[in-house]
Amino acid sequence: MIACMSECPICGKPIETGAVKCASCGIEIHKECAKRTMGKNYCKECYRKAKKESRYERMAQRDSWAR
Ligand SMILES: [Zn+2]
Ligand SMILES: [Zn+2]
Repeated sequence: MIACMSECPICGKPIETGAVKCASCGIEIHKECAKRTMGKNYCKECYRKAKKESRYERMAQRDSWAR
Protein backbone atom coordinates (compact mmCIF):
# COMPACT_ATOMS: atom_id res chain seq x y z
CA MET A 1 0.00 0.00 0.00
CA ILE A 2 1.40 3.32 -1.00
CA ALA A 3 0.03 5.93 1.36
CA CYS A 4 1.94 8.98 0.25
CA MET A 5 0.75 9.00 -3.34
CA SER A 6 -1.89 11.57 -4.01
CA GLU A 7 -4.43 11.75 -6.74
CA CYS A 8 -5.01 14.69 -8.97
CA PRO A 9 -8.49 16.04 -8.24
CA ILE A 10 -8.82 17.36 -11.78
CA CYS A 11 -8.21 14.20 -13.84
CA GLY A 12 -8.29 11.58 -11.02
CA LYS A 13 -4.97 10.01 -12.01
CA PRO A 14 -2.19 9.44 -9.47
CA ILE A 15 0.50 12.08 -9.27
CA GLU A 16 4.03 10.73 -9.65
CA THR A 17 6.13 13.52 -11.07
CA GLY A 18 5.63 17.04 -12.29
CA ALA A 19 3.13 17.94 -9.63
CA VAL A 20 2.50 21.49 -8.58
CA LYS A 21 0.72 22.78 -5.54
CA CYS A 22 -2.31 24.97 -5.60
CA ALA A 23 -1.23 28.37 -4.34
CA SER A 24 -4.42 28.74 -2.38
CA CYS A 25 -5.41 25.40 -0.81
CA GLY A 26 -2.07 23.59 -1.21
CA ILE A 27 -3.52 20.52 -2.94
CA GLU A 28 -1.27 18.66 -5.36
CA ILE A 29 -2.23 18.69 -9.01
CA HIS A 30 -0.59 17.93 -12.32
CA LYS A 31 1.20 20.77 -13.99
CA GLU A 32 -1.00 20.23 -17.03
CA CYS A 33 -4.16 20.22 -14.93
CA ALA A 34 -3.32 23.35 -12.97
CA LYS A 35 -4.70 26.69 -13.96
CA ARG A 36 -2.02 29.31 -14.12
CA THR A 37 -2.78 32.88 -13.31
CA MET A 38 -0.52 35.74 -12.24
CA GLY A 39 2.47 33.38 -12.02
CA LYS A 40 0.75 31.00 -9.61
CA ASN A 41 -0.81 27.58 -10.01
CA TYR A 42 -4.33 26.99 -8.85
CA CYS A 43 -6.70 24.05 -8.79
CA LYS A 44 -10.01 24.38 -10.55
CA GLU A 45 -11.92 25.63 -7.53
CA CYS A 46 -9.33 28.13 -6.33
CA TYR A 47 -8.81 29.43 -9.85
CA ARG A 48 -12.45 30.37 -9.93
CA LYS A 49 -12.13 32.05 -6.55
CA ALA A 50 -8.90 33.83 -7.48
CA LYS A 51 -10.50 35.12 -10.64
CA LYS A 52 -13.40 36.51 -8.66
CA GLU A 53 -11.12 38.06 -6.06
CA SER A 54 -8.87 39.75 -8.59
CA ARG A 55 -11.98 41.24 -10.10
CA TYR A 56 -13.04 42.57 -6.73
CA GLU A 57 -9.56 43.96 -6.17
CA ARG A 58 -9.67 45.81 -9.44
CA MET A 59 -13.06 47.19 -8.57
CA ALA A 60 -11.81 48.33 -5.16
CA GLN A 61 -8.84 50.02 -6.80
CA ARG A 62 -11.06 51.85 -9.21
CA ASP A 63 -13.17 52.99 -6.31
CA SER A 64 -10.21 54.48 -4.49
CA TRP A 65 -9.01 56.23 -7.65
CA ALA A 66 -12.36 57.85 -8.16
CA ARG A 67 -12.07 59.77 -4.94
ZN1 LIG B 1 -4.27 15.72 -13.43
ZN1 LIG C 1 -6.88 25.00 -4.64
